[in-house]
Amino acid sequence: MTSASVDLTLRDLSTRGAADAGCSTRLLDAPWDVDATDPGYGPGASMADPIPAGAPAQGEIPQEYRDASAEELDRRILAAKAALGDRALVLGHYYQRDEVIRYADYVGDSFQLATAAKARTEAEAIIFCGVHFMAETADLLSGPEQAVILPNLAAGCSMADMADIDQVEEAWEQLMEVYGGESEDADGLMPIIPVTYMNSSAALKGFVGRHGGIVCTSSNATTVLHWAFARGRRVLFFPDQHLGRNTAKAMGIGLEQMPMWNPRRPLGGNDAQGLLEAKVVLWHGFCSVHKRFTTAQIDKARAEHPGVRVIVHPECPMPVVDAADESGSTDVIRRAIEGAEEPTTFAIGTEINLVQRLAAAHPQHTIFCLDPVVCPCSTMYRIHPGYLAWVLESLLAGEVVNRITVGQDVAEPARLALERMLSAKPAPARTTTER
Ligand code: SF4
Repeated sequence: MTSASVDLTLRDLSTRGAADAGCSTRLLDAPWDVDATDPGYGPGASMADPIPAGAPAQGEIPQEYRDASAEELDRRILAAKAALGDRALVLGHYYQRDEVIRYADYVGDSFQLATAAKARTEAEAIIFCGVHFMAETADLLSGPEQAVILPNLAAGCSMADMADIDQVEEAWEQLMEVYGGESEDADGLMPIIPVTYMNSSAALKGFVGRHGGIVCTSSNATTVLHWAFARGRRVLFFPDQHLGRNTAKAMGIGLEQMPMWNPRRPLGGNDAQGLLEAKVVLWHGFCSVHKRFTTAQIDKARAEHPGVRVIVHPECPMPVVDAADESGSTDVIRRAIEGAEEPTTFAIGTEINLVQRLAAAHPQHTIFCLDPVVCPCSTMYRIHPGYLAWVLESLLAGEVVNRITVGQDVAEPARLALERMLSAKPAPARTTTER
């Protein structure tokens, strides 16, 4: 049976002298060693991405957690959870390592986890085993008395960091010069509506809230784009160019109407006419995990496994989504596998921790990751049972460590942008190009 543990897979590869089958031998290091020596995102898919100056770093945790064996950490985590009872809720994102997921009270994608946090009002503390923007979203949706804790502060997200609020404010100023400001035209439409993917900082969610915009997830991006086009001529979509492009293309928008905005260039590297003709301005951001998937991997999977069902995440580049049989959010992928009645071979284009867990949970199917190199999300991988034991035992001792809070000035418009998403209804099947 396939092991659900990416840690064990990496160790097995290493002992067989095949460590290079993982994208970095440093994946085997303890995350506190990485925290102490690596100022970047750490080993894994984002290791080559430049990290912004001032990104949160994790201080050293007490030696007892760094020295503890897996068995001791297991015993201490379970004991702390039992003692805390309903006071603490542990949330685990699908992309967390299996050694962490086993302690989660609820497992899901970022939005499912944030809504789970909202529903559990009796929990004083929400321990979010995921990344920074997810903990921020949980803080936005949970009650003011609830503390949201991120076990390792270095667990950011390279994609979310690609749309820095200062760059976005600067881009907006330039766009307003081209479009003549933020006012409705004769048809009651704004020149452009900002749409941010859930995978973005609270500051960005606040920005879109202040400018009449909305948040989307990979599950509702089409609904949200319809919402935006009912209110504006165009959309500024960030941070993920691929989700924006894949969604808009499926709605019938031509690639020539989707210019890319490169924040390091004047007008994002466009001319004013191109921006006037645009329907969707795509921010130059991407997920380093999903960028690894290629059409060559799909061709290989089809050649080696006739009849294989290829499902990829919409954060993958457009040619990969086009070459796949299906694309959808992590939850769509999970449900597609759960719903397959006959033994099926699946090639999946998403994060390796989820793929290995699905493979272990469904031995009647053959399930493998399209990418043959074991390369987890660098920042998801920064969460480790040692940090979980530390935050839980600190809580038990009356100390809240690593709390993530969103300031009121940002929280109010960010909640507004989230509420717009929650109330957006699927639109009739009319494309924006009909207008
Ligand atoms: S998988 Fe991609 S989008 Fe998700 S946390 Fe990792 S880098 Fe960010």
